Amino acid sequence: MKNDYQGANRFYTVSYDLDNCDKEPIHIIRVVQSYACLIGIDLNSFSILHVSDNSDRILGLPYGELLGKNMEDYLHPEIIEQLRSGLQDDDFISHNPIIIKSFGGNILKKAHHLIVHLQGGTLIMEIEERDANVSSSRFLQRSDRTVQKIQSSRDVNNLFHETAREIKVLTGYDRVMIYKFDEQYNGNVIAEAKDDHLDPYFELRYPASDIPKQARALFLRNQVRIIVDTQSEPSQIMPAVHPDTGEPLDQSDCVARGVSPIHVEYLNNMGVRASMSVAIIKENQLWGLIACHHYQPKLIDYRLRNMVKFLSRIISGHLALQEAHDYRTQGLQTNIIRSHLLEQMSRNWSVMEGLLESKYTLLDLNNAPGAALLLDGRLHKIGQCPSDKKIMDLINWLDKHVENTVFETNELSRHWEGGAEITDVASGLLSLQIAHTPPEYILWFRPEVIRTVNWGGNPEKAVTFSREKMRMSPRQSFEIWKQQVRNTARPWTRNDVNAAIALRNDIKDIIIEKYQEIRKLNKDLVEAYKDLESFSYSVSHDLRMPLRTIEGFSQILEEDYKDKLDDYGQQALKTISSSIGKMNAFINDLLALSKISLNDLIINKLNLASQFTQVWETFPATDRNRIRFVVKEPMPPVYAEITSLRQLLANLLSNAIKYTRTVESPEIEVGGYTDNNQTILYVKDNGIGIDEKHFKRIFDVFSRLVSEREYEGTGVGLAIVKKVADKHQGQVWVESKPGQGAAFYCSFPHHELDMI
Ligand code: ADP
Repeated sequence: MKNDYQGANRFYTVSYDLDNCDKEPIHIIRVVQSYACLIGIDLNSFSILHVSDNSDRILGLPYGELLGKNMEDYLHPEIIEQLRSGLQDDDFISHNPIIIKSFGGNILKKAHHLIVHLQGGTLIMEIEERDANVSSSRFLQRSDRTVQKIQSSRDVNNLFHETAREIKVLTGYDRVMIYKFDEQYNGNVIAEAKDDHLDPYFELRYPASDIPKQARALFLRNQVRIIVDTQSEPSQIMPAVHPDTGEPLDQSDCVARGVSPIHVEYLNNMGVRASMSVAIIKENQLWGLIACHHYQPKLIDYRLRNMVKFLSRIISGHLALQEAHDYRTQGLQTNIIRSHLLEQMSRNWSVMEGLLESKYTLLDLNNAPGAALLLDGRLHKIGQCPSDKKIMDLINWLDKHVENTVFETNELSRHWEGGAEITDVASGLLSLQIAHTPPEYILWFRPEVIRTVNWGGNPEKAVTFSREKMRMSPRQSFEIWKQQVRNTARPWTRNDVNAAIALRNDIKDIIIEKYQEIRKLNKDLVEAYKDLESFSYSVSHDLRMPLRTIEGFSQILEEDYKDKLDDYGQQALKTISSSIGKMNAFINDLLALSKISLNDLIINKLNLASQFTQVWETFPATDRNRIRFVVKEPMPPVYAEITSLRQLLANLLSNAIKYTRTVESPEIEVGGYTDNNQTILYVKDNGIGIDEKHFKRIFDVFSRLVSEREYEGTGVGLAIVKKVADKHQGQVWVESKPGQGAAFYCSFPHHELDMI
């Protein structure tokens, strides 16, 4: 085989092998297949320029006798007339094939077909056997039935299988396959009809290199290619170059063009002796091939070849229709899924629940096996996905490097380095950015396609050849194909991308709706809060009057009627007056609390240290003398409304005084510092302290950790502190441990103001 292969290379001036076969100039191969005789004549003079060296066998005249003669002397005048008219309207296709029964006076044993085309200034004629059966009425009826059957196919897959079956019956090839090319021209056998004893090639994959670029170009141009016998020695074109110009004869449109030795080896390795390939063309692109194999030499009649070409056109027509139909039905299907997703999301205004935890999920939108959603800083996954860490790395990369909101690839590792480690689940990525800062994304993943290929035939069994011959065989092709498609996934369709974009808008709508609802709730809440504040203000205000009356009458009782009361009565009177005291404290605190919210703030720049001292001075001397009061200076100024600041300080200090009552040497330290454009003031004591678990709760109204008997109080003080800080857009917090004192901090933002 190796020798043959090299031997065949003698047609060219350069050697071609697997490494440079895409450069092999197959259109100037200088030989024809021996089943046909080629004659090239000068367009104007009709003098014979080229003849293949098999003319003797086919036409009964050796090429040497024909060269230089005039073709008019060999063909019937009617045929010459036909050729001249063909030249005039520049259209030989409609004249082809011309029947010839004799040549130069010799009656041919069988009628032949003359197939003519024009190549530059040369008229090329190819003469091949004619099959009389093709014109029989039985055959015509059969063809008619074929067309009807194919045209009535229910769907496109059925159409392919039906076409393969019908072509097999019509032509008698041992195997008929339909190939479909992917974007890189790797082929996939999508339908097959074959003799039972043959191994199936259905779903076998072929790398693009199996049909090199220039061969594909010729397919697009001629549509039909026939190889009659791979083992027959090709016939030389004599001379191979134009006698005047020295140019090799361009055989681009020759039907019987010699076969590339590399292709011969390929077919031989599959055990194929004869083949026919017919291009399936869609929108001027090579969509696929009808490939017929025979394990014996086989020539089918020119008209039958044309018939198959016609069937391929029917397929092309169906494809365009089918594609439009598929696109529409898929679009409808995804719209339905989207509307379900939208409905699910709006049910609880939860994008996460709606997309991942309900009946329909993100995966239904494009049938991806895995998807992830990054929303509100949390990552959620469904189906087969990379690890959380990998997904977050990927999102980081997308956020930095991808500008578009939608990004799709079927080969992630080509764009992102980290992709190489996750090809098993994420060779394909369709990403959708919902928000930029903070990043919010939906990602769909698709695995490497090799893992999803349904391997129909048994590649090991398909052909068994020696190692040397294995380099071009279906098994080998599959291996090469695997190399070529490694790390790639099934591509995303236009429909997948459109659906993702539409989903993004749905999500935005939901988020906006949710945001508007929250805003409305917030507004309602603010109003309700205001109502509540004015209510509590008026209630506490109105309570004061009757309380004063009760207080007044209890004083009268005490002063004027004390003697008339027994012990129990006097005790009851005491309880009344202490309760009045508590009630007063409550009302005062509540009034203070509600006033803070009702009044607008007038902020001033205040000397913090002097505010601390002034407030401290308002406490009873008995307390002040008992406690060591430390004012840590210097302190930054504080920007606050004076009355509420004083209220805040008074509450913090009164707590510090109260909760250091049991301590031997009580100490209170006050101070302030600047941090991040804010003044932070603090009040530290060495009192009873607070457990960390209560830190949050103590700022709520009426929340107390101590009993009334031990420490009097209303539980309103720290709520006032928090409210004052809130009103100033500041914060409050506490640091403390039980038994180790407490430190309360409040922050007040800075303003551009002068000190008062
Ligand atoms: P109260 O009137 O009870 O002091 P506050 O709202 O001022 O109400 O305080 C709420 C609770 O926080 C108090 O009951 C007390 O348990 C705790 N607390 C407040 N300040 C201190 C402090 N300086 N040391 C220890 N506990 C404190």
